[in-house]
Amino acid sequence: MARKCKGCGAVLQSENEAVPGFIPKSVLEDDTKKDIICKRCFRIKNYGSYEPVDITDEDYLKEVKKVVTESNVVLFIIDLIDFDSSMDKVLLDIVRTRPIIAAVNKIDLLPDKKHPSEIANWVKKRFAEYNIIPFDIAILSVKDDYGVNGIVRKLSYLFPDGAKAAVVGVTNVGKSSLINGIIGGKSKVTVSKYPGTTLKALSVAHPDKNHIFIDTPGLIPKGRVSDMVCEECNLKLVPSKEISRKTFKIKAGKVLMLGGLVNIQIINTGEVLPIFQAFAAKDVTFHQTNEIRAAELIERKAGEFVMPPCEKCRDVFYERKFEKRRFTVNEGEELFFKGLGWISVRRGPLEVEVILPEGMEAVVREALVAPKKY
Ligand code: GDP
Repeated sequence: MARKCKGCGAVLQSENEAVPGFIPKSVLEDDTKKDIICKRCFRIKNYGSYEPVDITDEDYLKEVKKVVTESNVVLFIIDLIDFDSSMDKVLLDIVRTRPIIAAVNKIDLLPDKKHPSEIANWVKKRFAEYNIIPFDIAILSVKDDYGVNGIVRKLSYLFPDGAKAAVVGVTNVGKSSLINGIIGGKSKVTVSKYPGTTLKALSVAHPDKNHIFIDTPGLIPKGRVSDMVCEECNLKLVPSKEISRKTFKIKAGKVLMLGGLVNIQIINTGEVLPIFQAFAAKDVTFHQTNEIRAAELIERKAGEFVMPPCEKCRDVFYERKFEKRRFTVNEGEELFFKGLGWISVRRGPLEVEVILPEGMEAVVREALVAPKKY
């Protein structure tokens, strides 16, 4: 049987360095070496380098479908901070007929500490919008080892003879991290901040329970602005530390820039000023200005003022077409920008005209971080 890379699941080969799974012939033919990883995984693990590969969405989806069909439960992993990107319709359609445990990860990044049951209720309602009722909802911070053992206990209860769990989700939600958290030990799958690290399905057995976890390649979802910038900016938009939150009370005509990625112009006409909070990774500049100055900044590609995009990728980024969209966001609702963050309305309604790159998706949703009731 062909040997597979323990990091990304690609079949190991020593013919072509440009193809996934490459390792030098001497290593491949050395039978004494067990858990070998390919050159690409070695570089990601040891040097943190970005190693893109050419694999189509169709290849990914085929692999995911196969794994889901062969499993008896799906762990659908979601990044709480980029929730609406994680709820990718293509992936949800693949898993919707299977028993699903929704695993909501990265709660450590939320600045407002919320009770897990509150988050779970919100998640349940969000799944209902897609006509899916998950079997169970697990709230996690794999990074802080919170909730990881709970998933194993749950599987042991539901599948006393052993679960075959497909671990599914878009890129960067923490699939590989969760599997490593569950199995512990040394032989780990490759975790990286770069999308598309896991290339092929990769089975990992739990050390003492009879469960098998299958890490699947992540799909890069539609509409995420973090996938439209360079790798360095992408890393900045996928936060590793608690995200920032800032409150704004801005007059009509003024603009809030979320980095140089999105301009939010307030167009309220009433007497009462709307109040809202913006949430995004710490490296995203919140810049308040007026319409003319905001347009000038974009025109001048003023990278150092409003980041991301950075110096390196801003020329390419601003070559895109931009579009204007209007939104009315009521108190208790949020305007969510995929791959970036959200604004949460404290006193509304907030009426805005948003300029965003074509292809980036924005949605109005019920607030995850709702205004406090006094
Ligand atoms: P995958 O593409 O879904 O397999 O995601 P990875 O497991 O490779 O993780 C993507 C990024 O998210 C990595 O930088 C991880 O360190 C980070 N990450 C994973 N879980 C957590 C978590 O619970 N909290 C935080 N803050 N970061 C996490």
